[in-house]
Amino acid sequence: MELPGYGHGSRCQVCGKPARVHVGTTAYCLDCYNNLADYLYGVKTPTNDSFNILALDSEGRTVEFAVERYAHGTASTWTAVELVDDDDSRRADGYVGRSVSIVADARVVSQEEALDALMVKVQRVVGKPSLHAHIVPPDQVWDGPVQFADRVIYANETGMARVDCDEQGRTCFVIDGQRFSAEQFAALMSAYEGFDLYWRVGDVSDEPLER
Ligand SMILES: [Zn+2]
Repeated sequence: MELPGYGHGSRCQVCGKPARVHVGTTAYCLDCYNNLADYLYGVKTPTNDSFNILALDSEGRTVEFAVERYAHGTASTWTAVELVDDDDSRRADGYVGRSVSIVADARVVSQEEALDALMVKVQRVVGKPSLHAHIVPPDQVWDGPVQFADRVIYANETGMARVDCDEQGRTCFVIDGQRFSAEQFAALMSAYEGFDLYWRVGDVSDEPLER
């Protein structure tokens, strides 16, 4: 079974929407796959899988997320995916948006409790950024670790990065929704030359570390 995301080209055999999940040679959209899995495992189907949730970033701006669920056995992974407009200017710099997940077992946690836990985690992640940016006035030139058109990006002293891979299969890091190449990540860390870097790898559904 795989969950490859969109762009696969195949269609859900039940409703015809773009397929997300393939079981053998059968393709399903996420909703139809979840309905089938819930039926097979005797899980009470949530009343509605489609929710948008809002969080406030550290500067008081509203960030909107769409929630999706992926059922596996009696458990589900609930993921909040930041909505980024196609014409958002940050996309040119590699902004892909934040995504925050939790896993909840329907035998122990109701849908409402799972969504509450997801909302709390989203706010924790969004409210505590790993990077900070300085906006560079158009008439000035700044030197900084990573520079985009109008901003210089610095890593905070503590942070969290998603290890990811770009369209060419190269390892990259997504921090605060912004994708960085391995070279850019090294440049961000270069501000701390001479210091030690600790790391700890966690599952995407783990609680974020206190920092
Ligand atoms: Zn479907």
